[in-house]
Amino acid sequence: MTPLYSRTNPFPGKMLVNRRVNEGNRNKETRHHEISLTGSGLTFEPGDSMAVYATNDPPLVEEIIRALGATGDEIVPAGKNETAPLRQALLRNYAITTPTPKFLKAIVERASAAPLLEELLRPDHKHDLQVYLWGMEVIDFLLQHPSARFTPGEFVGLLTKLQPRLYSVASCLRVYPDSVHFIVDVIRYESHGRLRKGVASTFLAERCHDQPVPVFPSVAKHFHLPEGDADIIMVGPGTGIAPFRAFLQERRAVGARGRNWLFFGAQRGSGD
Ligand SMILES: Cc1cc2nc3c(=O)[nH]c(=O)nc-3n(C[C@H](O)[C@H](O)[C@H](O)COP(=O)(O)OP(=O)(O)OC[C@H]3O[C@@H](n4cnc5c(N)ncnc54)[C@H](O)[C@@H]3O)c2cc1C
Repeated sequence: MTPLYSRTNPFPGKMLVNRRVNEGNRNKETRHHEISLTGSGLTFEPGDSMAVYATNDPPLVEEIIRALGATGDEIVPAGKNETAPLRQALLRNYAITTPTPKFLKAIVERASAAPLLEELLRPDHKHDLQVYLWGMEVIDFLLQHPSARFTPGEFVGLLTKLQPRLYSVASCLRVYPDSVHFIVDVIRYESHGRLRKGVASTFLAERCHDQPVPVFPSVAKHFHLPEGDADIIMVGPGTGIAPFRAFLQERRAVGARGRNWLFFGAQRGSGD
């Protein structure tokens, strides 16, 4: 029988728990998520990860549509032999934060003046370009160079496909047969006067209360519990603790007699 869900047809999970676990740390936001997999038939082992197929931040999509002078309803390519309205394609299909080399080249070609960028795009300035691009997103170039005009179709042709993000499974199916847990650091930072958001970590933190969380397991070839009763030493700083939460649940559930050491490191003893 063909499995119902796949990489190209991920299971629409349901967010059951979305809880901050480090209220005491103002510099960092770490969340515990529990996602229902009821009816999916999906399986995974401790050590595996789950691919999350996030969608982009709607306010950023609207800002890009405005900067393009578009309505969002224009029909554009949206994957192999598929088309979609621009708004939907920017939400679901394309990476809209990191500028691609061909997008940067197109800005230089079309803007009335972008001398610095033109210079940085020369092959001998790779390192300087990287430094310049740190914290810069597609929207910055659109706003800084309004003379660079693109039709919606041309614009999406300069973007890459939105990729799923992997999260270590932080629970085991023997203990939680109908769900998967994650421990996620939410990416938020300020650069060039704007608040930036990681796509998938903020999707999980902010945008899943009223929409599914599309997920599909990703098998880890070389990261699993040892067979039998071997002693284990686990070192998991920050969200690196996630897979070991699954390991410990599994060890307890199967009654493994080996000893377990877990070393956990974080920024602050209180609050993390
Ligand atoms: C096998 C595997 C397991 C993983 N497990 C976990 C897990 O259990 N928990 C977890 O939290 N993550 C985990 N990750 C990482 C996770 O997949 C994502 O990469 C992470 O959550 C960021 O994704 P995002 O879409 O939120 O951010 P993105 O949209 O991908 O943005 C991240 C990018 O933002 C930029 N950026 C970030 N901070 C700054 C800054 N201060 N200044 C300028 N630019 C910045 C960097 O370019 C960075 O690459 C795992 C990754 C792998 C490969």
